[in-house]
This record gives sequence, C-alpha cells and structure tokens, in this order.
Amino acid sequence: MQITDRTSVYRGRFAPSPTGPLHFGSLVAALGSYLDACSCGGEWLVRMEDLDRTREVPGARDAILRTLDAFGFAWDRPVLYQSTRTDAYAEALEQLRGDGLVFPCACSRSEITALGHEGQEGPIYPGTCRAGLPPGRRARSLRVRAQSGPIAFRDRIQGKLTQDLAREVGDFVLKRADGIHAYQLAVVVDDASQGVTHVVRGADLMPSTPRQIFLQQALQLTIPVYAHLPLAVDPEGRKLSKSDAAAPVDPRNPLPALLQAWRFLVQLPFAESPANLDEFWQQALASWRTVHISAARTRPLPAR
Ligand code: GLU
Repeated sequence: MQITDRTSVYRGRFAPSPTGPLHFGSLVAALGSYLDACSCGGEWLVRMEDLDRTREVPGARDAILRTLDAFGFAWDRPVLYQSTRTDAYAEALEQLRGDGLVFPCACSRSEITALGHEGQEGPIYPGTCRAGLPPGRRARSLRVRAQSGPIAFRDRIQGKLTQDLAREVGDFVLKRADGIHAYQLAVVVDDASQGVTHVVRGADLMPSTPRQIFLQQALQLTIPVYAHLPLAVDPEGRKLSKSDAAAPVDPRNPLPALLQAWRFLVQLPFAESPANLDEFWQQALASWRTVHISAARTRPLPAR
C-alpha cells in the first residue's frame, strides 16, 4: 500500500460525511481535531467521506467546505474525496484476501438480525458463510474473519477500551452488497495513506476503533493515536433532535457556535471574551487542553 511522506509529527484530520450541512455535532469534531493539531504545530486535513451516494445530500459536500471556511478553519492539503479512492480500497481488500482473511457472504441484514445475536454495534454475525457459501446461495458482500481475543487501545480522553471482535462484533463487512467499500476499510486505508498520526472524532466511533486497529494490524499499517470527544445530548441523555445539535450551524454567524462548542469541550473560559473570529482562534489555539475534557461518551449541550 502506498503511504505518503510523513513530514509532520502530528497530522490530524476531520472526515465529514456529506449527509447534510455542518451541524453542532460535526462542528465539535472539527474544532477538537483542528485545535489539537494546530495548537502543537501539526497539520490538519479534511477528507470528504462520500462513498455512500445513497445517503449523500446534493450540495452538502460544498456546503460543509464553505461553512468550515467561513468559520476560519484552514486545511493544509487539498480535500481528499473518498469517491475517488476505489482503487486503493480494492487493493487493500486484495491484500487481505491474499492473506486468507476475506470470505464471501450470502446473508442479508434481515437474515442476520433474525438470528437474534444483538451486539452493541448491531447484530453480531454468527459465522454462517465463514466456511463457505451454503449450497445454492450467491455472494452478496465480502467479510473479514474477525480475530478472537481482546483488542485494546488507550484513548487519550476516554481511557482504555478492550473489545473481543469475534465475540462482540463478529466478522464484519468490507465490501457491501451494493458494491460500496465499507467505512471501516476506507477509513483505515485513507488514514494511513494520508499519513494521519492522530485521530480526534466523536465518541460514537469509539466502538469502531478496535475494528480499525484490527485492519491496521492485518494490513501492517501504523496505528494512529485516538481521542474520542463526547457527543452532545439533551439533559435526559438522549441524542439531540433536529432543532438543536442536528440543526445546521450558521456560516454567517460563526462566533456564537464556536464559543458554544468551546464550552461543550470544557475548555477554560477566555480571560476576555473574543470580539471576532481572529481573536477566538488566537485565544483558543493558545489555551486548548484535552485534559479538561472528561472521560464521558456524552455531555449535555451547553446554552448559547
Ligand atoms: N465520516 C464519519 C462521520 O461523519 C467520521 C469518520 C471518522 O472520523 O473516522 O461520522
């Protein structure tokens, strides 16, 4: 696999999916990853995760980039679009197949769900096609043979997570029935080929990280350092509805949303309230500290 030059000791990234405009939840991930990279002189990249055209909202890719720009985020290299990366994903899949780690699977989602092994991340694949397709069945997807035994990593914010992939997730999909390469494969291939050293993203992706580490090990790639930021919830702990965190942030008025995201990430109050974007970035870059963020997967949204 082709790995780009790694000139920086810290290279971070923000990887939005163009399923809608930038909302508060994605602003938090953008802000956390940006401040973490830039406050220590690292580089920050943007990668558009536009593999799943069925979930894409027309115009969302450009709207996200325009909003990031209006908020004062600056990326160090041209945006990488996953829709242009099919050959790289196919090559990684071939490498795994050559190592005997991939098998074709005939099962539909409803067949797997009907077997009723519900895990934290959806139904656990019961291994139906692991030893070969059942007679008369046709391959739909390609899966990887999950490793049994613990995969552990230490998250900079959330602490240690240990997962037994075989028991808790099962053999997972690398290429979907609709022919699209799965997120887990694409993210690993792209983080490596872009030379990403540090991943800062929402805690909803924390349980995906052992799958990614497993693939990184299988493909002999460097494992980045991970930090998972809390997700915004309402006071009852429910995921925020359309009206709050899922509401688009206003590109014409970035400062209030940035200050709200700053408070959400439990950063110290500014000595003097920033009067404009430049002042915000200057102060935020000087005082960003991940140690203030508590090890919680969720946090209530602070008032504006
Ligand atoms: N594209 C994913 C999302 O928008 C993020 C993937 C990642 O940061 O690894 O939720």
